[in-house]
Amino acid sequence: MLKGKTAVVTGSTSGIGLAIARAYAAEGANIVINGFGAPDAIEKERAGIEADFGVTARYSPADMAHGGAIAAMITDAESEFGSVDILVNNAGIQFVSPIEEFPVEKWDAIIAINLSAAFHAIRAALPGMKARKWGRIINTASAHALVASPFKSAYVAAKHGIAGLTKTVALEAATFGVTANAICPGYVWTPLVEKQIPETMAARGLTKEQVINDVLLHAQPTKQFVTSEEVAALAVFLASDAAKSITGVILPIDGGWTAE
Ligand code: NAD
Repeated sequence: MLKGKTAVVTGSTSGIGLAIARAYAAEGANIVINGFGAPDAIEKERAGIEADFGVTARYSPADMAHGGAIAAMITDAESEFGSVDILVNNAGIQFVSPIEEFPVEKWDAIIAINLSAAFHAIRAALPGMKARKWGRIINTASAHALVASPFKSAYVAAKHGIAGLTKTVALEAATFGVTANAICPGYVWTPLVEKQIPETMAARGLTKEQVINDVLLHAQPTKQFVTSEEVAALAVFLASDAAKSITGVILPIDGGWTAE
């Protein structure tokens, strides 16, 4: 379905981004993966995508905290593959703390990586998409783009910001065959969620089991974690021609969380 297309997926060395990158490769797209991690592990994932799906996969080490590196990642992908047709702004970090004690440098990092990085990548990729009259911009937002939780001020602010950015880009690109949508997962069991459990235990004075059952899954009426593969399947659909009239949508995949 995506043969001949190129997808750049930020934050795809792990979790949801890796699942999306693999799902696009399974549909025939060439892939640029990005993110941090041990060089051996990243190379194994990159080579695995090529071996499993017969596409070309490249790795960009661009730090999503730096606008210049983000723009260069897009330019490099366009030079190598001829186009960036699908852009998934997925890289993200979390920090959990009451706002009075929230470290200022954590606020700045979360706004940079979870919000401003998407602006820089879209700014660089949109001209090519508009010129070719086809493009898909998919932002991994969160249920926290629609509702808040205590102790996540920076994350909730950044994800609400992504919702506004998505709608604005959708309007600007609407007549150019380019869609922009935000996927809003509920809790997905990935390293990002695992890492915030100790912080939430400390912020709320709870045990690990209490955090999982009474904080995380408490929010989700299905009482189950969403899977990365489910999120990836949605990203594949939004990249398809069948989804060309879906744009500017802030779409929950959250087990009913935001229905409450
Ligand atoms: P993860 O920790 O497994 O993956 C995050 C990815 O981002 C990794 O590849 C990491 O290396 C990369 N990354 C972090 N900082 C970076 C930087 N400065 N530059 C480049 N790459 C960087 O997390 P995940 O759960 O897969 O999260 C992916 C996205 O999904 C995030 O935007 C997150 O906010 C969102 N999300 C996750 C959940 C969840 O429950 N896991 C729910 C809703 C939304």
